[in-house]
Amino acid sequence: MSIPKLIDIHSHVNFNAFKNDGHEVLKRTLDAGVWTILVGSQIDTSRRAVEYAEKYPEGIYAAVGLHPIHLSDMYVDAKEISAAEGVPSFHTRVERFSYDAYKPLAMHPKTVAIGECGLDYYRVMEHGTWNMEQIKNLQADTFRQQIALAREVKKPLMIHCRNAYEDLLHYGSYYVCARL
Ligand SMILES: [Zn+2]
Repeated sequence: MSIPKLIDIHSHVNFNAFKNDGHEVLKRTLDAGVWTILVGSQIDTSRRAVEYAEKYPEGIYAAVGLHPIHLSDMYVDAKEISAAEGVPSFHTRVERFSYDAYKPLAMHPKTVAIGECGLDYYRVMEHGTWNMEQIKNLQADTFRQQIALAREVKKPLMIHCRNAYEDLLHYGSYYVCARL
């Protein structure tokens, strides 16, 4: 087993922006002595993260989960995403968390974390179509289910949090500790 110079624990080469040159990007990554964890934000990008990871004997791993912004239909401005050059603005594709769909991906030996999951109140404020309380409750419930999945498969969480730190610590510590 080789030893990497650096491990980039959060990359998105599994996203559509890299659908034509993902493997080239990963080859350059490995050639530079860098390992990475490809992070899913929905079921299809989570699956793709695992598919990429399966193709490499070492150095490419997956995190699988449902990002909170994909719970509501929201507009994401490319200018506002750092390092998003070449990535067009997009509307989120709405998904509901399915424990049964994510569990086999979570159990996969190349999957090293559950996420990205968590809470995001920033874009909700700007572009929400539901009222804030409903969205917050849905995000909390979805986060709770992913904490439960992480506990079941005994893997760490890959957390996304924006403008929601107090709630994240509250729900996170409550649900992580609830069954200790
Ligand atoms: Zn991310």
